[in-house]
Amino acid sequence: MSKSTPLNRFDVDVVVVGAGPGGCMLSYLLARSGVKTALLERHNSLDREFRGYFFQPLVLKLFDQLGLLEDILRIPHERVDMFKFVDHGKTLFEVRFDELEPPYNYGLNISQPPLLEYFIQQSSRFSNFTYFGGTTAKNLIKRGDSVHGILAINQEEEIELHSRLVVGADGRYSTIRKLADISQTMDKFEFDFVWFDMPKALGKDYPLQIKIEDEGMLIYIPKGEDQVQVGWVIKKKTYPELVKKGIDDFIRTLIVIEPDLQDVLPYHLKSFKQCSVLDIQVGMTDTWVRDGLLLLGDAAHIASPFSGQGNSLAIQDAVIAHDSIMKAMTTQGSGVLQESFLKNYELYRKPAVAEIQRIQAMQARLIAIKNPTFLGLRRTVAPVARRTSLFKKMRDKIAMGVQKIEVNTSFFLSQES
Ligand SMILES: Cc1cc2nc3c(=O)[nH]c(=O)nc-3n(C[C@H](O)[C@H](O)[C@H](O)COP(=O)(O)OP(=O)(O)OC[C@H]3O[C@@H](n4cnc5c(N)ncnc54)[C@H](O)[C@@H]3O)c2cc1C
Repeated sequence: MSKSTPLNRFDVDVVVVGAGPGGCMLSYLLARSGVKTALLERHNSLDREFRGYFFQPLVLKLFDQLGLLEDILRIPHERVDMFKFVDHGKTLFEVRFDELEPPYNYGLNISQPPLLEYFIQQSSRFSNFTYFGGTTAKNLIKRGDSVHGILAINQEEEIELHSRLVVGADGRYSTIRKLADISQTMDKFEFDFVWFDMPKALGKDYPLQIKIEDEGMLIYIPKGEDQVQVGWVIKKKTYPELVKKGIDDFIRTLIVIEPDLQDVLPYHLKSFKQCSVLDIQVGMTDTWVRDGLLLLGDAAHIASPFSGQGNSLAIQDAVIAHDSIMKAMTTQGSGVLQESFLKNYELYRKPAVAEIQRIQAMQARLIAIKNPTFLGLRRTVAPVARRTSLFKKMRDKIAMGVQKIEVNTSFFLSQES
């Protein structure tokens, strides 16, 4: 990388802001394609805010296309054969990954920090890649409406990164999106989640599931070998009421839903300080590309947590963005990458993400039913419906995506440089 002091100026082809699953995947793909790439992450360590460990089966296939799956499976992980919705003790429906075509017939539960670290290590094997940890993007370098790079702070030192493209992969509260003044259309979502981590009780299994009872919905998400993340769905903005009733009342409610929690919860959960609330948002960013700018992952769209889609969507975006960026670079020659050359990425991905959001909204409506007649109908119809081809098609979309996603390996350098 060329550095001309005293400005701390760096010139690259692409600056990727945010080392989440989307940013790490795109940086790796670009680095491996010979593109001069800088990846910025504001945290010093990749052990950043907790962002779910579950990855859909499609992600296995994409990692395999990179030739990295075998290595990744050396990182401690769990295979997830299915996730299920349990309604008053009876399975309402199961999304069975183990019925998919092998070898991509399971979901992956894997801690994000070592996975992201692995991607950065692999990218660093290419001399055209630089990782800026502990570096926060603060401003866009703009000429007119087009973006020419970013200003960032690294350990109180200002740096300038000049580029042909800035990628905002900086999550749901994206600074890049805000700096570019791009609006988002937010959907109404009537729930919030309360989360806490809990040690697994010895010999007890905690499958990935949503358990629905009259009192509410309990979610288990396995988190590493000895922990499980417990989620409790509450009506939006009612967390202060829950806190007011006290932690013992909360524990009692959860034990009514899941009596087995009696063995762990009273000894483990002592205060609401151990809990965090996830303000569930669902939204779509109105424009994903501009001259010199591209948004992906949560910066471009926020999916609801139903059926764990966010990680997979961000990685799918990265795969398609890589293809569009490489084609734009080849077609356009030099200069800031033009919106017209990047637009294919947005046109391809946006309807697919919208379809996933519709499927999630349908799941949420089904789960939230309170009317006794519809409840009865749900319990009768859902177990039958899960055996239909329509349901299987939906399962395939959840697991493998709604459109063709293939890594374009034709751009890869034949050797590491
Ligand atoms: C509690 C929780 C649980 C979830 N569980 C799951 C799950 O199990 N499965 C699933 O598929 N999805 C899950 N999701 C959603 C999923 O985590 C996101 O959809 C996914 O992380 C999006 O990836 P991303 O790369 O777009 O952004 P992120 O993973 O959010 O990464 C963005 C990165 O950008 C960095 N950043 C932000 N601003 C700046 C800046 N100005 N400069 C430099 N760096 C910056 C951040 O520190 C962060 O590392 C969960 C989300 C939450 C909140």
